Amino acid sequence: MNQKQEHTVTLMPGDGIGPEIMDAVARVLEAAGARIRWERVDAGAKVFAAGDASGVSREAMDSLARTRVALKGPLETPVGHGGKSANVTLRKYFETFANLRPVKEFPSIQTPFSGRGIDMVVVRENIEDLYAGIEHMQTPDVAQCLKLITRKGTEKIARTAFALAANEGRASVHVATKANIMKQTEGMFKRVSESVAEDFPGVEMKHILIDNCAHQLVIRPEQFEVILTTNMNGDIISDLTSGLVGGLGIAPSANLGHECAIFEAVHGSAPDIAGQDKANPLALMLSSVMLLRHLGEAECAYRVEQAIHQTLARAEALPGDIARGRPVVGTRAFADAIIAQLAQVEPPPADLPIPQAVEMPARREEVAVLRGVKRELAGVDAFIEFDGSAEALGGKLEEAAANTAFQLKMISNRGTLVYPPTGASTDCVNCWRCRFVPRNSESAPCSACFTGLLEAIAAAGLDWVHLEKLQRFDGEDAFSKAQGEA
Ligand code: NAP
Repeated sequence: MNQKQEHTVTLMPGDGIGPEIMDAVARVLEAAGARIRWERVDAGAKVFAAGDASGVSREAMDSLARTRVALKGPLETPVGHGGKSANVTLRKYFETFANLRPVKEFPSIQTPFSGRGIDMVVVRENIEDLYAGIEHMQTPDVAQCLKLITRKGTEKIARTAFALAANEGRASVHVATKANIMKQTEGMFKRVSESVAEDFPGVEMKHILIDNCAHQLVIRPEQFEVILTTNMNGDIISDLTSGLVGGLGIAPSANLGHECAIFEAVHGSAPDIAGQDKANPLALMLSSVMLLRHLGEAECAYRVEQAIHQTLARAEALPGDIARGRPVVGTRAFADAIIAQLAQVEPPPADLPIPQAVEMPARREEVAVLRGVKRELAGVDAFIEFDGSAEALGGKLEEAAANTAFQLKMISNRGTLVYPPTGASTDCVNCWRCRFVPRNSESAPCSACFTGLLEAIAAAGLDWVHLEKLQRFDGEDAFSKAQGEA
């Protein structure tokens, strides 16, 4: 972007501590001479209260569609039933598929990890996974959430992570998954990341299981440069990494899409300290430094960042969450201290690097299709609601399927094989996965063949709640086996 022009940026103050930290940040940016014209719009609690279940006002949508860049305060999420998360609405509407959370030690904030040289970026996929929000009650007693990982979504986030590493001269990307257990979903994330990594020969890809990653982050955090991971893993692990360097009060983030960028603190609206002038504005202020770099305002970003570092180094008083026994300063006064420090910041070095924006993968409008895959149908899993025992259900289903093209291969409950009986003491619920395969292994089933099976199940007085085709791609099973299934 042109360094001389004024930038129009959407500003959402948010809920809880949002307005007070946003005010602190806007004052610092103004004092630093940032060429920004803010468009203030509403999102969050106020919008929910006005009856809009998306949590994002029409004006906010229109503003962001126009400006393509926003600084956002935290937004409260209604818990349980009711509206969707306003954060997720924004993420999905503007397809900000990449969540970047840089984590760097501040010399003046003491933690048990101080002096280790922690400097990493967590790159979290922001749209898919268990947070795609596809949930169904299977029975009144059994809830299910779909974990959705796609080749297209993974390619985009992996490309972003490797491009970021290459851009910032980082030598490695740890791809953190649970591919050992979730071979199809987390497995796809690993496999696609491996193939994207081939396009970045200067960056080494290292695979790590997410649980070991959590362990290693505490044991030897300095080994990580970039961590690339799925949505929920990233949500959890990035709060952990924030904790390594001082906590949520200093953790910034960027949500990047093909054409849109939203900068925000990692933390939420902290309702317990809202309106008390206690909140630490640094997380949002550091997010605004990322915003300035995104806008190409390298000098202004430098000045704000230096003023923050120098204010922290003088450490006369700090916000409560990072004071660690030192005098505590309120939100407003801390912003005033940073504004005063701005006057002391030396001009940036002549060779101040102009930040290179991460090149985001281009949007591909077409639906992603991997061509040339040989497909076979291997059977069907019918999830059946039944209040009796595995043996009783197995007997009924064997009988029901007797005159169809299918036979019952097994029944599992909560992922464990329970029929034919195994002797294991599985604690069962009333939703059973009943796997049917062709009676004659020579005959290839077709989608239409399932109708006869379903009619036979219904005629036996049983009700299915959910069906899942079993497929083989290029000869490989594209479905998981139950625990104990041959
Ligand atoms: P939270 O708002 O992040 O607050 C958790 C705790 O962290 C606070 O109680 C406070 O601890 C401390 N804290 C967080 N930010 C701070 C700051 N800037 N300065 C000082 N202390 C800070 O998490 P939550 O209580 O789980 O969530 C509250 C609401 O925020 C929920 O509605 C949630 O859905 C929403 N949320 C929004 C976003 C977002 O908009 N991106 C992100 C996360 C959560 P003390 O008790 O020590 O004061």
